[in-house]
Amino acid sequence: IKILAIETSCDETAASVIQNGSEVLSNVVVSQIESHKRFGGVVPEVASRHHVEAITNVIEVAMTEANLKPSDLDAVAVTEGPGLIGALLIGINAAKTYAFVHDLPLIPVHHIAGHIYASQLEAPLQFPLMSLVISGGHTELIYMKDHMSFEIVGETRDDAVGEAFDKVARVIDLPYPGGPHIDKLAQTGEDTFDFPRGLIKEDTYDFSFSGLKSAVINKLHNYRQKGIEINKNDVAASFQKSVVDVLTDKTFRSMEDYKVKNLVIAGGVAGNSEIREEFSKLCNARDVKLHIPSLKYCTDNAAMIGAAAYHLYFKDHRADLTLNGRNFIDIEEYEFTS
Ligand code: ATP
Ligand code: MG
Ligand code: FE
Repeated sequence: IKILAIETSCDETAASVIQNGSEVLSNVVVSQIESHKRFGGVVPEVASRHHVEAITNVIEVAMTEANLKPSDLDAVAVTEGPGLIGALLIGINAAKTYAFVHDLPLIPVHHIAGHIYASQLEAPLQFPLMSLVISGGHTELIYMKDHMSFEIVGETRDDAVGEAFDKVARVIDLPYPGGPHIDKLAQTGEDTFDFPRGLIKEDTYDFSFSGLKSAVINKLHNYRQKGIEINKNDVAASFQKSVVDVLTDKTFRSMEDYKVKNLVIAGGVAGNSEIREEFSKLCNARDVKLHIPSLKYCTDNAAMIGAAAYHLYFKDHRADLTLNGRNFIDIEEYEFTS
């Protein structure tokens, strides 16, 4: 089964051809980061315009690199949401057109399901599993008893982890997106500030990162007022340590509760080196099987959409040409019986 997958939910224009859910025949990602940098974040209208300019080429290159003709494909898959509506619509319209012209079935895919299925590009998912989704817009613990079955066990009540990384980076004058820069600074910093660990003592698997973000901002203002130079490396390390403590605590507690031994970490923030190290160490000690995708599959790409679409293909999940983008879709709606 060969699927052409298209992803344009945010600021990456991406297309990929995936064979049998895991073999990557091509994986093209055009990032718009440079255009959004000067605004300090993604500007939706700018994102849409870039997608329009790039999409046709990105699809063509994905097909050329896979060395395939449209008639070799079995389906076209596309992210239907969640994401920026204008951005999503560019990918959706391209996918609809491609499917219509070449008479192929069209498979709509949930972006976060895609992030989780990124793991499948490197190792088959083993169930039951817990997935820790940590991205620019999401922070969730999702329990999966089988393919395409999702139960949200906990989620953020305010900021997503990636959002917190980017906001903290911004206040210490790091370029957008700040996550990778914080990661780098933290490597030579120390947890000297002991920032708050949101909801860590509470009996919930929900997360909260706005208190942490405010604590960092307050500390900075405090130092500025006193005219003392703050050590950015220590701010980064302290912030990151607080995040890691909360993520590991909630994840392992939920895994004990749900009695699962498989953990998949997904989303852009899964690229963080301390998160990768800490989770590997703790999973080893607990006999938990961990999978974190390679960096290129953590951030937005279309290969992960193709990996998820493979299962939806066999579950006969299809869209017709009325498919619309949605900026929010409850992933728990994705319950399909084969
Ligand atoms: P969503 O998937 O929720 O719609 P998104 O697609 O914008 O959001 P991703 O592309 O999955 O998010 O991830 C982008 C986020 O990952 C950004 O917030 C970025 O700062 C963060 N990020 C990337 N690399 C790292 C890293 N090494 N450490 C921390 N954060 C990182
Ligand atoms: Mg992005
Ligand atoms: Fe994403």
